[in-house]
Amino acid sequence: MTALAELTTIRVGGTPSVLTIAATETEIIEAVNSADEAGQELLIIGGGSNLIVADDFTGQVLKIASTGYENDSTVCAGAWVTVQAGHNWDDFVADCVKNGWLGVEALSGIPGTVGATPIQNVGAYGQQVSETIAQVRTWNRETKKIEIIFAANCEFGYRTSIFKKYPNRWVILSVTFQLPLGDLSSPIKYNELAVYFNNEIGDRVSSQQLRAGVLELRAGKGMLLDSTDHDSWSVGSFFMNPRVAQPPQDAPAWPEADGRYKVSAAWLIEQAGFGKGFGLNDRATLSTKHTLAITNRGTASSNDVLELARHVRNGVKAKFGIELQPEPKLVNCSIEN
Ligand SMILES: Cc1cc2nc3c(=O)[nH]c(=O)nc-3n(C[C@H](O)[C@H](O)[C@H](O)COP(=O)(O)OP(=O)(O)OC[C@H]3O[C@@H](n4cnc5c(N)ncnc54)[C@H](O)[C@@H]3O)c2cc1C
Repeated sequence: MTALAELTTIRVGGTPSVLTIAATETEIIEAVNSADEAGQELLIIGGGSNLIVADDFTGQVLKIASTGYENDSTVCAGAWVTVQAGHNWDDFVADCVKNGWLGVEALSGIPGTVGATPIQNVGAYGQQVSETIAQVRTWNRETKKIEIIFAANCEFGYRTSIFKKYPNRWVILSVTFQLPLGDLSSPIKYNELAVYFNNEIGDRVSSQQLRAGVLELRAGKGMLLDSTDHDSWSVGSFFMNPRVAQPPQDAPAWPEADGRYKVSAAWLIEQAGFGKGFGLNDRATLSTKHTLAITNRGTASSNDVLELARHVRNGVKAKFGIELQPEPKLVNCSIEN
């Protein structure tokens, strides 16, 4: 049986008792329903890029592997594209750029599936999927019915949504995006990108250029999957940027609508004494390129990853009084002391 270590990007986790691979909407619903009716727990996975699964996990796993997308050409306002949940996210972004569909180009290079993107409202380089998602088609496990949830009801926020809030209620079957048409990228909102292009915030470049720039920047940070680069054997950012009333002096911080500030978790980690490459052993360390990623150097267990995460979180709490929250889903494990 394939272990979770082979199904996740950080390459840790035990072996499921049952692994079902569902390639169509019908197969997904059947697999979920039969587990639900038998009262059995089911771990649903896409690309496994935001998951830490316990070493002793032996549960049932459903891998969503439905692919393909359709553009409804009867819709006048831009492209109206419905993508199956198991479709690879970055393949979709590449096709959007090729087809002149705008609004996701800054999200180039994010691993995983389209169906997982609404869950934590995937975001990077000034874009979030919530800006282009029109609706999400789901299987409601409580009512046992197909339910279409419009974007306005998804409760999207920073790395959150209604799907994250109620993790076992819906299985995402497909996502519909409404994308403006054009060859120029959406206006650049992220300073690092503006600097890369020698531009100002609000300027635009071609969407192909933007994608290429984002991919280069991501590769430089180990944030692009590469089996030869251990810095990318991760879940991306391990911690979310915390929201605080008063940011520490000199911390990079961004004002939020509620009057609080979002503070850079990477800065807090570094200032608490955990530099790039820091580890408690040589199996799991912070990325050598970025302090926000915890990485598997080849032989790490999930315990190694969690131990390091706990150590870093405790260090940040001791120095700043701020408790970092993990971004990935932790399955049958935790970083609590
Ligand atoms: C190198 C690297 C870089 C990354 N960079 C970013 C980034 O820039 N921005 C960002 O936001 N994230 C980033 N991530 C995190 C991750 O790629 C995203 O969260 C991605 O959307 C997860 O997709 P997945 O298919 O791999 O989900 P999985 O890890 O397989 O699952 C994640 C969660 O979603 C649930 N789930 C998955 N599919 C479904 C479905 N169809 N229905 C219901 N529940 C489902 C799972 O049960 C689990 O709880 C990065 C990760 C890595 C490894």
